[in-house]
Amino acid sequence: MAAINLDAIVTHIAHDLANRSDRGKVADYIPELAGINPNQFGIAIIDYDGNVHAAGDADVPFSIQSISKVFTLTLALGIVGDRLWRRVGREPSGNPFNSIVQLERERGVPRNPFINAGAIAVTDVLVTGHQPREALGQILRFIQFLADDPTITIDKAVAESEKRTGFRNTALANYMKSFGVVENDVDFTLGVYFHHCAIAMSCRQLAMAGRYLAHSGRHPATDLSVVSAERARRINALMLTCGHYDGSGEFAYRVGLPGKSGVGGGIIAIAPGKASIAVWAPGLDRSGNSHLGRIALEMLTRSTGWSIFGT
Ligand code: GLU
Repeated sequence: MAAINLDAIVTHIAHDLANRSDRGKVADYIPELAGINPNQFGIAIIDYDGNVHAAGDADVPFSIQSISKVFTLTLALGIVGDRLWRRVGREPSGNPFNSIVQLERERGVPRNPFINAGAIAVTDVLVTGHQPREALGQILRFIQFLADDPTITIDKAVAESEKRTGFRNTALANYMKSFGVVENDVDFTLGVYFHHCAIAMSCRQLAMAGRYLAHSGRHPATDLSVVSAERARRINALMLTCGHYDGSGEFAYRVGLPGKSGVGGGIIAIAPGKASIAVWAPGLDRSGNSHLGRIALEMLTRSTGWSIFGT
């Protein structure tokens, strides 16, 4: 097979998408995100040997939002192991990311760790036994370690903006608290949740942070094991089935990689044994996933043959 020229591929994708007029709609339910310029696009790929292939606005930091849920899930599994699954399910939701209806039907146990309710329950696990500040510090340091980059920070304005307007998330957390699924003070858990969603990272930093999922759980720079190979495989499986809310089926159909999106317009995608990839375009589709980000990944898997379902 001819070698894949990833530099040429990312340059082509960035160029193609720069000219599209249909760019989706930026998330405006978090006021601080409403003013983002929708004409930006970035892509970064870290291949298995650690080479970076980047194009467009790959070094512009953006709000990672729900992509942080991959890292909090990884941490929580490290702390409570499979006991986590008593509090959170592992099935796709088929509902919007902030749905309340499903939670009532299922007696306060969220469908999966990537919808908002599930991610709040996961954050609660990280808060137990800690001051909120410590829990948040642990999450941020973990991401900095994964990305080999101590400069990654939290955008406090985004966190505050979401805290002021996060009525639905507050409702979800209170509802779960009434079933004992959230154990800590609701304000503490939500505070940590809003702040980890407000971590700002560029495509390059995000692709670096995702390497362990492409390397069977190993952090390639230090050769430390972040999670076992089995756990990395399972996190990838959850990203594939639940990583794009009720657009997860469409993402698997079109892209064919485990991926997690955020309402900031970012998507992290993993080609196991091949690469860690991040794309960013702020405009979202109807399911709340980056419109051009998904198209970029579809172009990428088409030209590389990286879909896990075959070439
Ligand atoms: N912080 C966002 C929220 O809770 C995350 C949603 C997302 O990125 O999908 O609404």
